[in-house]
Amino acid sequence: MRFTVAIDGPAAAGKGTIGRAVAARFGFAHLDTGLLYRAVGRRMLDGEPPITAAVALTPEDLSDPDALRTAEVAEAASKVAVIPEVRAALLDFQRAFARRAGGAVLDGRDIGTVICPEAEVKLFVTASAEVRAARRLKELLAAGFETDLGTVLADVLARDARDAERATAPMVAAGDALTLDTSEMSVEEAVAAAVAAVESRQGA
Ligand code: C5P
Repeated sequence: MRFTVAIDGPAAAGKGTIGRAVAARFGFAHLDTGLLYRAVGRRMLDGEPPITAAVALTPEDLSDPDALRTAEVAEAASKVAVIPEVRAALLDFQRAFARRAGGAVLDGRDIGTVICPEAEVKLFVTASAEVRAARRLKELLAAGFETDLGTVLADVLARDARDAERATAPMVAAGDALTLDTSEMSVEEAVAAAVAAVESRQGA
């Protein structure tokens, strides 16, 4: 059985939380595609040209996801993500994952538009910049980073602008995506809405 759930949207909108919950609920595999760009960003910070890094990426580069979830790596990720050759190098892996047997959930920025336009379910998960910055601040503080709301909000807005304005695969809702604004939703409500979208398509 092939069944793809494509979840796109801006930073810290809840894509990962929803994606993991939907994958667990239906027994699908889950891929956080942001980690691929973060891993390329990490290698760039370590001195490697981004295209070389993207072509040479191995599972080993993703073995410590927490180390990739820093603000520094996020910024580097959004810089390498504007380079068409970097995106092209990561395409086949993501497409194969999306159509793997048993079902898959992918979250990112261009899943429903570029990676898997044929996805059975497409969600665009968003929230106000202030709500997203507050959520990200909580995560960063819990992980032991010292930062503040103003800094995190500025980072989130800069990353949103870079992701939405780039020429190749910009962040945009697919025409047939269901938009979920999670600004005033609990995690449970947002997950329930996503689960309902999958169930309604499975029943179709
Ligand atoms: O989702 P996450 O915040 O980890 O993504 C880090 C960066 O990777 C994003 O800001 C974006 O620039 C890039 N990205 C992308 N396309 C994806 C996933 C992430 O361009 N499908």
